[in-house]
Amino acid sequence: MDRRADGRVVVLTRPRREGTADLAREIALDVFCLGPWGRTQTDVYFVRSGASFVLIDAGWASDLSRIERAAGSLCGADSRPAAILLTHCHPDHAGSALLLARAWGCSVFMHPDELPLATADFGAMVASAGPLDRYVILPLMHAMGRRRREAMLATSSLGDVARTFEMGAGVPGLPGWECVPTPGHTPGHVSYFRPSDRVLITGDALVTLKVNSWAGLLLQRPGLSGPPWYTTWSPRAARKSIQRLAHLEPTVLAGGHSQPMTGLGTAAALSAYAERAHEL
Ligand SMILES: [Zn+2]
Repeated sequence: MDRRADGRVVVLTRPRREGTADLAREIALDVFCLGPWGRTQTDVYFVRSGASFVLIDAGWASDLSRIERAAGSLCGADSRPAAILLTHCHPDHAGSALLLARAWGCSVFMHPDELPLATADFGAMVASAGPLDRYVILPLMHAMGRRRREAMLATSSLGDVARTFEMGAGVPGLPGWECVPTPGHTPGHVSYFRPSDRVLITGDALVTLKVNSWAGLLLQRPGLSGPPWYTTWSPRAARKSIQRLAHLEPTVLAGGHSQPMTGLGTAAALSAYAERAHEL
């Protein structure tokens, strides 16, 4: 628990000590957080709706068995999540999506503007590149030549399990939730919001890990941050998305990295952060 200078209390929830990183814990009614784990402090979320679950984000490719185990203990041996929803299509959020979708027999849903990245379209990668892509990844991919590049990209494509959802038509598998466009980190980044109790799942539009300072990243310091600048397509759009999220006044802020933020001071902490982010 953190007491801010103005006396408000912000709670960064802690995992149960007796559990392991493979146990998802309920951070709000029917919302289960698996994570954070690893150097990137990855989180994925299982959300229950009636008798079924959906998974929001799918970690790195190496996280497959961790997510499968958590799904097994939440859903039971005879049931699987009904859908996978992505906030965006970077390898730390969509890495296990293809194999999970095949194992569970479900689709992977995303914003239409994210589909070209999900299907490994090289032109879309160039168009939505952040600094790391522009100065490191893309020059390497250009250097490897077209045939090798296309073979490599084919292995990362979500192929025919990728589906787009219609904006404004509700969130697949989650009645009562809304999809909030939060472009900036990528063109089709979205967040997921439940207005009834203002629970907000933000992917990388907003994280609770200080990803934009070396010390924050190396020491895994918790705290509100916009998306990592080095993998962000449009910082300007990302700042606008943070303002938009602040207006939702969340009671729970569950990002893609580090501990979710809960407690009475959450909306005020985000609002204060969004004001500062405006000047960045
Ligand atoms: Zn991420």
